[in-house]
Amino acid sequence: ADFRTSEKSWWCPGCGDFGVLAALQKALVDLQIEPEKVAVVSGIGCSGKIGNYINSYNLHTVHGRALAAAQALKLANRELTVIAAGGDGDGFAIGMGHYMHALRRNVNITYIVMDNMIYGLTKGQTSPTSETGFTTKSTPTGNLESPVNQLQLALASGCGFVASGFSANQKQLVEIIKRAIQHPGFALVSTYSPCVTFNRVNTFDFFKQNLVNLDEDPSYNRHDRFAAMKKLMETQELVTGIIYEDPESVPYEDRVPGFREQGIVNQDWTMDPAVWEQIVAQYK
Ligand code: SF4
Repeated sequence: ADFRTSEKSWWCPGCGDFGVLAALQKALVDLQIEPEKVAVVSGIGCSGKIGNYINSYNLHTVHGRALAAAQALKLANRELTVIAAGGDGDGFAIGMGHYMHALRRNVNITYIVMDNMIYGLTKGQTSPTSETGFTTKSTPTGNLESPVNQLQLALASGCGFVASGFSANQKQLVEIIKRAIQHPGFALVSTYSPCVTFNRVNTFDFFKQNLVNLDEDPSYNRHDRFAAMKKLMETQELVTGIIYEDPESVPYEDRVPGFREQGIVNQDWTMDPAVWEQIVAQYK
């Protein structure tokens, strides 16, 4: 299977999102998942375009609602590999309510965030992950707010798979996404994906100089939630790798009484006429 499409990209040349797209396509190929078994559900923003560039089902939802639609899709058809995708603005501003509850609900989907610490589509305003003091045209004296710590939030909210990648480290990002898709439950893959047009601070060079790669630390235990939280606090979340993985994760679907393995479209909905008559009789 090939997950490329012929659609011409709308992204600026050099945008970090190209790296995330390529890693996702490679991960799907490596896992030998057929395109008709994949659905990409995206929100609004530059990164929301990602579904247009992947040869799979694509649901481009309204702002901040990708996770709500992705969870519903998975519950309707658990045969699908469901990937929710979007940016830091989409996920952690207007979408924050859905984020918090998706983390604790644990539906078996993968959520890929392309975090560029700015609103790119609307030409460069501070986003929920912009650093304090970050200047833009609309905050010329600097951002007065503290950034959202989305990875710590995920850990604190019970998320069973928390990872961070960098769009310029393809090898690592492909492996993270593969592992996330295979994880039985909600898997967060937050990626540092620089906006080369509007963010002149958090650039590719900035991340290359500042990111701590957990894969290079053999003593790091990814099954220890407390150690993971400590590492995130120590590094101000500037890490890459799988930060936390719960080996005993049970997805939401498996806890729903009577939930069936097949997707709704593949279930047998024929009913014994006598049973139907009994149901109707109750309403007469
Ligand atoms: Fe990428 Fe920024 Fe261009 Fe949007 S504005 S496509 S985030 S480089």
